[in-house]
Amino acid sequence: MNTNEALQFYKEYTEKNNAYRLALTTISFDNATIAPKDGSDARIKSMSFLGGEWFDYQIDPENIAKLESMAELDLGETMNKEIKLVLKNVHKISKLPKDFYVEFMQLSEQGEIIWKKAKDAKDYSLFKDTLKKLVEMNKKAYEYYGYETTIYDAMLDEYETGWNTEKYDAFFSKIKERLVPFISKVVNEGKKIDDSVMHQNFPEEGQKQVMDILKNYMGFNKNECYMGVSEHPFTCDFSLHDVRITTKYLEDSLFSSIFSIIHEYGHALYMLHVNPELEGLEVSRAMTSGMHESQSRFLENYIGKRDSFWVSNFSKVKEIFSEQLKDVTFEDFMTYMNLSKPSLIRTEADELTYPLHILIRYELEKEMINGTIDFDKLDEIWADKYEAYLGVRPKDASEGILQDIHWSGGSFGYFPTYALGSAFGAQFLDAMKKDIDVDACMKNNDFESIVNWLKDHIHQYGALYKADEIFEKVCHEPFDVNIYLDWLIEKYTKIYF
Ligand SMILES: [Zn+2]
Repeated sequence: MNTNEALQFYKEYTEKNNAYRLALTTISFDNATIAPKDGSDARIKSMSFLGGEWFDYQIDPENIAKLESMAELDLGETMNKEIKLVLKNVHKISKLPKDFYVEFMQLSEQGEIIWKKAKDAKDYSLFKDTLKKLVEMNKKAYEYYGYETTIYDAMLDEYETGWNTEKYDAFFSKIKERLVPFISKVVNEGKKIDDSVMHQNFPEEGQKQVMDILKNYMGFNKNECYMGVSEHPFTCDFSLHDVRITTKYLEDSLFSSIFSIIHEYGHALYMLHVNPELEGLEVSRAMTSGMHESQSRFLENYIGKRDSFWVSNFSKVKEIFSEQLKDVTFEDFMTYMNLSKPSLIRTEADELTYPLHILIRYELEKEMINGTIDFDKLDEIWADKYEAYLGVRPKDASEGILQDIHWSGGSFGYFPTYALGSAFGAQFLDAMKKDIDVDACMKNNDFESIVNWLKDHIHQYGALYKADEIFEKVCHEPFDVNIYLDWLIEKYTKIYF
């Protein structure tokens, strides 16, 4: 195969893959947002049919052979990386025997259903055996894939390339060492702040108007981005010029929809701003979870919670909720959105306590995969860790070990990227501040400069570079968790002491 033939083949190959992906993404977005519930069986049937066809296409030996011979050619930096990435993925899935693959998929689907039942019943014992089986099957899958050091290392690398137990151990031990005592000091000695005014009733209609204000301020372009509503906010990419985000409205919490949309918009921008030359390629969408979370949390915490972001927006929000916010000053509003209070539920955690929720999950799943923990006592061990690190103890498993969906679908090694992404963001902010006056831009309604900086320094590359390489390019120094911890401790010291 010469270069021209190779590129011609690859063009058709990606077009077909993208068609399958678009169909499946459309059905699943529809499923999570507006589709009537009763049609879900039919949708799932069609999805498994399409998914099966797509799987067969990807593991077709003829296609794999062509990709392998493409890997021998020098197609330039981008295409060399593209082929390497695609081959890694297809080699992986083609190593699973079909029977195992089907059983594995079924267990992941059943896992979510059993988890949901156990969660509703607040009973960990209903999920325990399934969780154990999920761990075993995932480990078996890695036996088929092959791995270098340990299975858990391979799982971690899957979600954040280049990150393993050794690096995460160092990362989380710093978090534990510096944040556990600081949070306890905030709880015991910090100022007491009453934010009940922010938990009055904020009707959905008004919150929708707030979404419009934020979209307008952040330059949301409805020709390439759509916002829906779903139970758990998420972002989903259809193509380079079509990204969908969702938010959710809680009438007793105005900040929930506000920070959902800012967070998801951070993910959306990362997808929309990839260099158009990468359009349709795997490298345009395979950004790691940690890098993705670094962009969403960047917008949510490092940008969306700054005074300057709200200088022109606060009065508009106050106009909409004039009754509820009549006694709330700008300073109050900023304090309320930046409060910290140890809580049980990860998705509702504040910026300061959030990484400890992840630390707990990291410690547990590491032991689950390494086989050094007793599954019978996992719910108790979970509760003990919450008590030790955050000073709160779940009263039942639904607000404890059963709160997250991830393990029930077989995602192990994913959680740590949430904390990592948050930490990456602090260093990106320092780098951004060296180039532009972040606060001046936001006060002057120039959000575009913020977005353009992210696009030029991070977004445009898509998945071409690993996080370490991005750090070299953007920050001219390696990642350092202390920059993140300094940021948190300094910020919360100002609020509480
Ligand atoms: Zn996110």
